[in-house]
Amino acid sequence: MVYYKELLKHKESQNWFKASVALRIAQRGLQVFIDNGLRDVQKKIFSIAKSMGCLSPDTNCTNCTTENLILCPTRGICTSLKRCKFHNTPRKCLRNCPQQLCHLVRDGIIRYHRFSGPSWKNTKAEGWHADHWEIGKCYLPPDGYKDVSSSIESDFNALINVLINCTEFETKLSIDFTSSSNLLTKIREYGRNIRHSPDQKMKDIELNNLFQKLTSLLEDSVCLQTDSEAVSAVKNLKELQNDKLVIRVEDEQQILFEGLQMRLAKYYQRVFNSSLLCSLLPNRDSNPDKLFVTPKLIERDHRKIGKHGEHLMRLSVTTYRDIFFEGSSKCSNVYLIGEPGMGKTTLTIKCCLEWSAQHLREEGTLDELTDMAGNGHISFADADIFKDIDFVFRIALKEQNMPAR
Ligand SMILES: [Zn+2]
Ligand SMILES: [Zn+2]
Repeated sequence: MVYYKELLKHKESQNWFKASVALRIAQRGLQVFIDNGLRDVQKKIFSIAKSMGCLSPDTNCTNCTTENLILCPTRGICTSLKRCKFHNTPRKCLRNCPQQLCHLVRDGIIRYHRFSGPSWKNTKAEGWHADHWEIGKCYLPPDGYKDVSSSIESDFNALINVLINCTEFETKLSIDFTSSSNLLTKIREYGRNIRHSPDQKMKDIELNNLFQKLTSLLEDSVCLQTDSEAVSAVKNLKELQNDKLVIRVEDEQQILFEGLQMRLAKYYQRVFNSSLLCSLLPNRDSNPDKLFVTPKLIERDHRKIGKHGEHLMRLSVTTYRDIFFEGSSKCSNVYLIGEPGMGKTTLTIKCCLEWSAQHLREEGTLDELTDMAGNGHISFADADIFKDIDFVFRIALKEQNMPAR
C-alpha cells in the first residue's frame, strides 16, 4: 500500500495530491447528474429533429456515419483540402440521410453547443439514436476522448467541459453562463493547473479556494443540492479537507502514476524543445518537428544477418508500430543501427516528444501533429500508438556509469 504522506514530504506537494483527490471526488459527484442531463439532450434533439422534418416518431437511422454528415473541410477534423484523412473514401463523403433524419440531429447537436463547435472527432453518428453518450462526446474536448465509452470513464476535465459546452445545463445549474469567467471556467482552470503543474505543488490558499469552488458547484441550488451523489461528494470533500477521509488505494496509486507521467512528459518537452536541434530554428518556440526528416529504416532479423538469402528478410519501416510491435505484441528489444549522423538520436527524441504530446493532451498539441501527418509526412503518422504506452524512458548510454562497449 502506498501512503502519499510518506512519499510526498513537502506540505505543498501533499496539497497538490489532496487537490487531485478532490477533483476525483467531484468527478464522482457529477457523473450521474451529467449522464441524466445528456439523456435529456438526446431526447430533445431527436424530438425537435423529427418535428422539424415532419417525420414519424419511430423514424430511426443507423446508416449515416459522422463523415457522411460533416462538410469537408471542417476545422479541427479535416486534415487537408486535397487529401483529407477523415473523408478519405467516396463512401465517407457528405451525403443526404436516407431517412432525412441525421442531418437534422447533427444541426441539433450544433445548436446545443455553446460555441457551435462540437467535437466530431470523438463521436460515431451511427450510435446517436441508441446511445446518449455518443451525443455527449460532441461536448468533450476534441482530443483524447475517442475511446471513452461513458460518463463514468470520463475524467474531471471531460465532465467540466460537458457542463460548459452543452447549453442544456443552463437549465440545471444556477451559474451565470453569460460571463466567460464563471464558476465552471474557474474550476476547469484549477483542474488544468493541477494536472499540468510543473512542480506538482500547491499553496494552502489555492487548495482552500479549490475546496470552496468545488463545494459551491456540488451544492448548486437548482438540482445538485438534493442529488445524493453530489451530497455524498460534498461530505467526502469536507473529510478530505480536515484529513479525516480514508483515501482509496487505487486513487492514491493512480494519482501518483499519472503525476509521474506528467512530470516526465513535461521534462521531455522542456529539454528537447530547447535542445540543440531547436536552436537552429529562427523562433525558439518553434516546433522541432519542422526539422525532423523521417529516416529511411529497414528491418532486419538479427538471427538471419549474414546468412544466405538475408536480403529477402529486409522490410521497409514506415510506422512507429513497425518499430515497436511484432504483430500485436510489443517487441522486448529493438536495436537501431546506422552510421553517425543518420538520425538515430533524433528519432529517439522524436519518440519522446510524440509520447509527451499524447499524454499531455494539451489543446492544440495533438491537432498540430495530426495536421502535419496529413501534409506530406506520410511515414510515422501513427503517433497515437504512444497513447497506450505508459512510459518512454530515454537513457543515453554515454550517461551510464559504465564503460561503453
Ligand atoms: Zn474532410
Ligand atoms: Zn441517417
